[in-house]
Amino acid sequence: MTTVLHDFSLSELTEFVTTGFDVKPFVAKQIFGWLTKGADFHQMTNVSKTLREKLAQSCVAVSARIIKTLTSVDGTQKFLFQLFDGNVIEGVLMNYKYGNTLCVSSQVGCRMGCKFCASTLGGLVRNLSAGEILGQVLAVNALGDGKNRHVTNIVLMGSGEPLDNFDNVTKFLSLVSSPDGINISERNISLSTCGIAPKMKQLADMGCSLNLTLSLHNADNEQRQEIMPICKKYSVTEALDACRYYFQKTGRRVIVEYTLIDGQNDTYSHALKLASALRGMSVHVNVIALNPVKETGLKGTSENTLKKFLQYLEKLGISATRRRTMGQDIQGACGQLRRSYLAGDND
Ligand code: SAH
Repeated sequence: MTTVLHDFSLSELTEFVTTGFDVKPFVAKQIFGWLTKGADFHQMTNVSKTLREKLAQSCVAVSARIIKTLTSVDGTQKFLFQLFDGNVIEGVLMNYKYGNTLCVSSQVGCRMGCKFCASTLGGLVRNLSAGEILGQVLAVNALGDGKNRHVTNIVLMGSGEPLDNFDNVTKFLSLVSSPDGINISERNISLSTCGIAPKMKQLADMGCSLNLTLSLHNADNEQRQEIMPICKKYSVTEALDACRYYFQKTGRRVIVEYTLIDGQNDTYSHALKLASALRGMSVHVNVIALNPVKETGLKGTSENTLKKFLQYLEKLGISATRRRTMGQDIQGACGQLRRSYLAGDND
């Protein structure tokens, strides 16, 4: 059994090394400090070599290792991470005025089956542990100057459905926001879901202050079922009710993600349906054009139609903006880089 050390909080790590390796609590604290910096065993110079060697026999210090970086003309960076068992996942770092947002994966692959998404094409391989989600943040943060925080915001919008890996994702949230560790507040973290309504409510009940995003893409229940199979289990109404519940409990406005697919969800009647479904809710709609994935055969809506769709929403009194598309030249859509890597396209 391999132990991923990033899975541990400071107190859990202390327990683990003091009982299993017979070392003092201050050594645990030193190791924890190194792990938070994204360091591997050989870099932990104030920890004895014997202990490091013993730990390395059954434990992993770097839970997500960057094995490839692509940099876009707009500065966006895409990373391919390798996990201890050889699986690969991807993440994206986007630069904004207020800081750097890292998009992380929560699963290897995905089993949600959304028709437009590259991440789900090969199905779910496995869940990521809490430490493997954290490890992506730590690895990218370590690329900074060490003085300022390099990663300031996190979005759980990479491969995988975060609420399909609920326990590990919530454990990740507690690790990443802990003052012992990297201490990124939940207010700076967004979680995007395809609409697993009961889990959205469970998040609300936990009293979290995360930003919740619902990937809606169509407000018509039957049409949404065609592109997002999860809708057969939890209807549009149930997903939106869960958003209302989230707002009531946490006071945080929910974001609705709406990806425009050519000829499928981008007409005036779709805007009307969306507006009436969202009427009276405290939400904001983020609109983007589909990033085409060659295997799906679907196309993104044209620039013109996208602008019109936004105008319709504005006229209908719905708060909506276009989400900036970044990193278009570096396989921006989630799952694309991993797929091309697995296909042996390693340039
Ligand atoms: N499973 C979660 C998070 C991962 S997907 C969810 O469904 O929200 C992150 C976002 O990207 C979702 O809104 C998803 O619908 C969208 N997305 C997936 N593939 C896309 C593509 N090819 N172009 C544009 N958006 C896409």
